[in-house]
Amino acid sequence: MPQRDQLEVDVLFVGAGPASLAGAMLLAQRARDAGRPLEILVIEKGGEIGNHAFSGAVLDPRALDELVPDWRDDAQSPVDAPVGGDQLWFLTQGGKIKAPVTPPMMNNHGNYVTSLQRIVTWLAARAERSGAQVFPAFPGQELLWEGERVVGVRTGDKGRDKDGQPKSNYEPGADILAKIVILGEGPRGTLAKQAIAKLDLDAQSEPQVYATGVKELWQCPAGTLQAGNVIHTLGYPNDFDTFGGGWIYSMSSDILDIGFVTGLDAKDPTMDPHNQLQRFKLHPAVRPMLEGAKLLRYGAKAIPEGGLWAMPRGYADGLLLIGDSGGFLNGMRLKGIHLAMKSGMLAAETAWEALQAERFDAAQLAAYRTTFERSWAFDELRGARNFHQGFNGGLVAGMLNVGLGMVTGGRGFGIADKLPGEAGYLRMEKRGYRPKESPRAAIDNVVTFDKLTDVYKSGTMHEEDQPCHLLIADTNVCRDRCTVEYGNPCGYFCPAAVYEPLFEKTNRHVEGRLQINFTNCVHCKTCDIADPYQIITWVPPQGGEGPVYTGM
Ligand code: SF4
Repeated sequence: MPQRDQLEVDVLFVGAGPASLAGAMLLAQRARDAGRPLEILVIEKGGEIGNHAFSGAVLDPRALDELVPDWRDDAQSPVDAPVGGDQLWFLTQGGKIKAPVTPPMMNNHGNYVTSLQRIVTWLAARAERSGAQVFPAFPGQELLWEGERVVGVRTGDKGRDKDGQPKSNYEPGADILAKIVILGEGPRGTLAKQAIAKLDLDAQSEPQVYATGVKELWQCPAGTLQAGNVIHTLGYPNDFDTFGGGWIYSMSSDILDIGFVTGLDAKDPTMDPHNQLQRFKLHPAVRPMLEGAKLLRYGAKAIPEGGLWAMPRGYADGLLLIGDSGGFLNGMRLKGIHLAMKSGMLAAETAWEALQAERFDAAQLAAYRTTFERSWAFDELRGARNFHQGFNGGLVAGMLNVGLGMVTGGRGFGIADKLPGEAGYLRMEKRGYRPKESPRAAIDNVVTFDKLTDVYKSGTMHEEDQPCHLLIADTNVCRDRCTVEYGNPCGYFCPAAVYEPLFEKTNRHVEGRLQINFTNCVHCKTCDIADPYQIITWVPPQGGEGPVYTGM
């Protein structure tokens, strides 16, 4: 057994996203104001803070206004530009219909176009100034338990070879013990998944449903963009059965942020989020915006779309779930940063009370849910509580359901308070060996790029000689069942060409293997979510590796 360093803190946040950093900053301020020294630590798997921060992003500043009321006076402002123009388009194959007015839920008046990497870098500096510590390159690998109580986190080892054997630079991960562990690891967090499964934290919730957002940044010719212009789209290239839509945001310095969301509850096993973005860029209403422009960056990330009904119980003994890990995202507004920050702040208040009372059991930490239910974040999510479920009947049904929700305060079809949800992977249709592919974008290396070219633009990097961080419980399932039932959808849904199904069906059986190019991985978690057999588990690779999302 390796000798592991042990570290004790009062509160440990896992994942340096907006939720954890807002929470750590607020808790540090409470401790400082009360004159009570507290050890508050934020650990992050990325090599630098912000490297793995990925979002659209249009920021609703409500939580930021509460946390840092004078943030607009900061010369290092975390936002890029206030939203000016705000449009919603419905795209047909060859044309567009512009909504005469932007529906209230899509109205971005008072919001800001920005980069999440910029926000978290700014928040991390503030959290550290307030007294919290922030450690990059420290992935949370597993939860430490005493019975059913979380007592800490083991961070990942470094320097193991591909067979798991220690190399000359081997460093075992540390055990970080904490009175409260707060998980803000993003969607489908490794530790959150462990806790939800062990403690049945989703027993009372609807299944979480996800989409994958794929995005590129483009440098446009000087003077061609009006920073703050926001366009959202519905329709093409998605068919009427598939949830999703596009975004086009104009940022300062003539940078165009263009992305596409594809539901991971698509029926088509060949649905490919990267391909959908390439097709979106070729639409006649979109392509002219990329004239003379140059691709700068690429990235992808899963988005928890299930809303209020799909939130797992966010507290347990010694544990709180925040941000995307806790389901704090409003799919109807395509916004989660403000809700993530608010959840971190509510968790900080809960932790502060628990530290005063010196009690860290679930009954004490249940105050997190109570204060959430009294907050604007709950009111906002309640108004959108049946949003995603309406799209289970397709795009038209989904839009009708949205309209109904707007006049009934969030009720769904049949004026139901709660529409049932369904895990996305269950909706994938078995279409057999090599199913007919959904249309593919022609790759021209000018406007459209293949996955490997885009992966290069993500800056992702993993050392080859380490254990593969994509754990497949039984690769016989990939060969013997998935090939003939679904046609190996991992070869489509992964936006980084990690999975290469090298299978051939002979008269009698299937031969070949699944090649896993794990060094390409951009940490989006799509495979862990969308695999129809649920046998893929994403775990963090060596600390400090993965994408580098500068400006994303
Ligand atoms: Fe995303 Fe999984 Fe592909 Fe990595 S391997 S890029 S987590 S789908």
